[in-house]
Amino acid sequence: MCITGFRFDNSYPHLPSLMYTRHLPVQVPNPRMVIFNVSLAKKLGLHVADANDVQCAHLFSGNRIPPGADPLAQAYAGHQFGFFTMLGDGRAIVLGEHRTPDHQRLDIQLKGSGRTPYSRNGDGKAVLGPMLREYIISESMHALGIPTTRSLAVVTTGEQIFRETEQPGAILTRVAASHLRVGTFQYMAIKGGITGIRTLVDYALNRHFPEIRENDHPALMLLQGVMDRQIDLIVHWMRVGFVHGVMNTDNITISGETIDYGPCAFMDHYAQDTVFSSIDHAGRYAFGKQPEIMQWNLARFAETLLPLLHDNPDTAVEMAEETIQTFRGLFNTRWLAMMRKKIGLCDEAPDDAILVSDLLQWMQQHQADYTQTFRMLNIDQVSPEDLYQHEAFKAWHQRWRERLARHATPSDIAHTHMRSHNPAIIPRNHKVEEALRAASENNTMEPLQSLLSALACPYEDRPEFASYQHPPEIQNPVYQTFCGT
Ligand code: AMP
Ligand code: MG
Repeated sequence: MCITGFRFDNSYPHLPSLMYTRHLPVQVPNPRMVIFNVSLAKKLGLHVADANDVQCAHLFSGNRIPPGADPLAQAYAGHQFGFFTMLGDGRAIVLGEHRTPDHQRLDIQLKGSGRTPYSRNGDGKAVLGPMLREYIISESMHALGIPTTRSLAVVTTGEQIFRETEQPGAILTRVAASHLRVGTFQYMAIKGGITGIRTLVDYALNRHFPEIRENDHPALMLLQGVMDRQIDLIVHWMRVGFVHGVMNTDNITISGETIDYGPCAFMDHYAQDTVFSSIDHAGRYAFGKQPEIMQWNLARFAETLLPLLHDNPDTAVEMAEETIQTFRGLFNTRWLAMMRKKIGLCDEAPDDAILVSDLLQWMQQHQADYTQTFRMLNIDQVSPEDLYQHEAFKAWHQRWRERLARHATPSDIAHTHMRSHNPAIIPRNHKVEEALRAASENNTMEPLQSLLSALACPYEDRPEFASYQHPPEIQNPVYQTFCGT
């Protein structure tokens, strides 16, 4: 065995069988390792002698199944751009749940592993560019301190897959706290009735909220717990300028991890209506819409729990609504707390919200780069760059300094807050695209490896990675690929 240390302990197959289909990954002709995440493997307690050994490629392509795995495709449903559909893993197989040395239970999933009973008209395959994109962005999110699924490996399969053009087939190994989604509950609500939902609530609490398992109102606690984590997640996304792009209910986890990196990207210049996906014509999933969409998604989640909230359907709806309506207030409070840290404040004053929104408005009007503007904020002086010599910006800067002085925030504390909340390096799309082009078209992984090194310590200023800090000279267009997949 090229890799040892897998400790599978699979709980998902104990759920009602309508929730999954046992299914083996489709065999691939000629698997080759493209990238392997050595530090993640170590964290998982996996021992790899040589990741480039072809046996490893067989394993991470699904040609060989590790001992203890129980491969299955999960059933789920989802609202896609607002429309309800029955879905399921159409191109992914969960190999099983691995127990790490620090007792975490993590799903090991192959994405792009061929047709399953849920593939509908799809081919079940994935191609190299988008799988490497998920690898880069998910690992960057992790380094930024944002809950996310992780990426353990990408292999090519030896097949050519037709998208708009022929592209190398590829499989990503994804590691996740679980693959339970809002859509999993939507599926169960339809197919499994109240007994099914009760089972799923128990399962989700056990797996993600063991501390609230023994409670008189488990369904309500689960709703509040998921909402709590999803609010924190969106606050993080807003902090770093991340646009997910496909916030369908099947892409919203119960664990609170970011999942499914399709047409996602980080904003360069600040604009609330930033959209990267070429299919999101209405801007449903634009940067500034993400909180409101999350609340909508959580309302769909709450609907699946209604029969457990109260025997009286009207009371159940009232309870669900009451909870969902707290979203805005909770979100706004946590968002403002985060923005305060971005500008170095460690106490609260009534005008802070205005101070923050004035800065954002100025950034939007002047197409200022979101990441750079926060990173260059300097208490002692205004940046000499032309953009920041603008009178309106200098006036804001003066107000900000006065605000800091009024509450006597020590400047080293202000500085520490700012450094830990404002990344210097994000995976800017032009750099990501450059690395993907080199990997897919020129067969060279060097730009991608160097990008990954830069993204590994995003809060540090390191001169060797200065080129990753700059926005592109020409702004990014929206993606031209369907869902980036
Ligand atoms: P995604 O946009 O990756 O979240 O996928 C949405 C749904 O479409 C999921 O049920 C996927 O399994 C399915 N899907 C996406 N691409 C394919 C494909 N090439 N073949 C089969 N199913 C797919
Ligand atoms: Mg998905």
